[in-house]
Amino acid sequence: MGIFETIESTKHEQIIFCNNADAGLKAIIAIHNTVLGPALGGLRMWPYASEQEALDDVLRLSRGMTYKAAVSGLNLGGGKAVIIGDPRKDKSEALFRAFGRFIDSLHGRYITAEDVGIDVNDMEFLFQETNNVVGVHQVHGGSGDPSPYTAYGTLQGIKAALQWKFGDQEVGKYSFAVQGAGHVGIQLIKLLREAGSKVFVTDFNADSVAEAVELGAEAVGLDDIYDVDADVFSPCALGAIVNEETIPRFKFKVVAGAANNQLATEAAGDQLAARDILYAPDYAVNAGGLMNVSIEFEGWNRERALRMSRTIYYNLSKIFAIAERDNIPSYKAADRMAEERIEVIGKLKLPHMGQPHRFPGRERQNG
Ligand code: NAD
Repeated sequence: MGIFETIESTKHEQIIFCNNADAGLKAIIAIHNTVLGPALGGLRMWPYASEQEALDDVLRLSRGMTYKAAVSGLNLGGGKAVIIGDPRKDKSEALFRAFGRFIDSLHGRYITAEDVGIDVNDMEFLFQETNNVVGVHQVHGGSGDPSPYTAYGTLQGIKAALQWKFGDQEVGKYSFAVQGAGHVGIQLIKLLREAGSKVFVTDFNADSVAEAVELGAEAVGLDDIYDVDADVFSPCALGAIVNEETIPRFKFKVVAGAANNQLATEAAGDQLAARDILYAPDYAVNAGGLMNVSIEFEGWNRERALRMSRTIYYNLSKIFAIAERDNIPSYKAADRMAEERIEVIGKLKLPHMGQPHRFPGRERQNG
């Protein structure tokens, strides 16, 4: 498929290929949709096997950001950037400063943030070249690590799902199977345990499991997590774990967690609905991190970040209501809610806000 055919089929606005031979930079910025606001999405660095693989990834991820922002009620569009390279050996000051210049050249149409393969030092280099960066360190007035807010937001999504499914959102009454006790997972386990919930946990990393057990969680094997007799499955590790092999094993009534791309296929979402397992769409549940960085535009503070994360409860409730209204699975309802918002807001004819006009060649004389 040609590039323009690809853009047409994925409905992207703009794709920018960035090259700087001196710095060894090869990067792609994809701006999917800016109807609601500037395109915001993280920068990923990855040793892609081919340019096509990098392009596919940035197109998929930037589209996902449009939906996440729209469903979360944010005035942001969707974008994403990838640098082709190995984050363990190809990083340099020149690389990130060169890329920062490219971001700056877009005059705020695209705002970047940290993603896989990027750390706080890389962000500092970008920040030297452009202001259009969020998630910068708190010493610069940024919001720092988003994980606690993602976990807190995930808890709000879980509450909405419990309310919808059981008519009672008291988290402590339910049991949870949490897959992954990393940055987000461990914070979520802490919140669940504070509420008095029974928690089962699994993780590749023995230290992470030990930390969760310390909080009162019960450890189970990596593959056993799918068979646990718990009310809620909370994926907080990788994607595609809800699939045709795992679903038949579920005794869970609800799937609600922070991991991205939990459904291996759309059919997996249909299968969950057919088994009457309530799926809380991942990109609506895990939007706390995005909300957290979005606050940097107005000046970040913790209270505001928590308050915004609580809106996830209402977003999820709306998604479940749309699913019921239109008799569709919840994953489709989330997409529909995002698309409806982009359409309605995009068509709004807003009054002109007024701004100082400049008339070249005319000058007013004082007095
Ligand atoms: P992380 O890397 O800190 O934690 C992931 C954990 O999962 C690690 O401890 C890892 O050992 C474990 N893991 C990996 N594969 C596993 C497997 N097969 N079984 C069990 N455990 C496994 O990542 P994170 O920042 O906590 O993010 C977790 C998920 O949430 C990811 O899918 C991420 O994309 C998503 N997410 C994170 C944020 C955020 O603010 N960090 C925001 C939105 C979405």
